[in-house]
Amino acid sequence: MTDARSGFWDWARSVVEHRRAQSPAARPGQLYQTSTMDALLAGVYDGDATVAELLRHGDFGLGTFNGLDGEMVVLDGTCHHLRADGTAVSAAPDERTPFAAVTRFGPGRTVSLTEPANWAEVTARIDDLVGSDNVMCAVRIRGDFTALQTRTVAAQHHPYPPLVEATASQAKARFTDVSGTLAGFRMPEFEQGISVAGYHLHFLTADQRRGGHCLDFQMSSGTIEVAQLSELHLSVPQTEAFRSAALNAADTSDQIRRTEGGH
Ligand SMILES: [Zn+2]
Repeated sequence: MTDARSGFWDWARSVVEHRRAQSPAARPGQLYQTSTMDALLAGVYDGDATVAELLRHGDFGLGTFNGLDGEMVVLDGTCHHLRADGTAVSAAPDERTPFAAVTRFGPGRTVSLTEPANWAEVTARIDDLVGSDNVMCAVRIRGDFTALQTRTVAAQHHPYPPLVEATASQAKARFTDVSGTLAGFRMPEFEQGISVAGYHLHFLTADQRRGGHCLDFQMSSGTIEVAQLSELHLSVPQTEAFRSAALNAADTSDQIRRTEGGH
């Protein structure tokens, strides 16, 4: 990069960082997202947004950490770092993320689940409740799970492989008879590539000690809360890796199915 270009770049980055520092906390109905699924698929695993910054924009959400070092779940204003060994700890404010989405959860519609239900049944209930495929929703499901399967991505090293390769070695965990919370989003098909179209849910046990990206579940009872979102604030990394990444692959949907699970 020439001096002139790198000078411009330094200036542009300082403007963006200044604006981010000033940006007001999000209100309910607004989804704040840093980077895109396309970028994650392309191996852009280092972002510049910090956990502290994310938490200014929401108290609920999900994502991953720089280097693809585990899964993130944000619940009640706490950012949890779910490691590849299945354990969960509170994330430090200065940890960074290459992909995350948060909102200030609520107000939402609530449904009590009194009969056993699996992924397909629970998501069908939510789809009925929302009544449109074109609406973004935050979804919080608290309850007792008779079976639940998660995966957790493992830290990657340079040169970063694409996500389909990185997730091939993901650690999977099976939970039985566990209480906890599924937190995430239902996104419309037209956001595939920016986000994960359909349901994307991360799990945290009630004791906040284990969790991961949910692949499947069966629950015995619980509560479903759905909050509709009307705005998407997309913040993209001010990094050379993002600027030079080859985005918008022709097989984005197929890659997302392979990396995020079959639902
Ligand atoms: Zn995930």
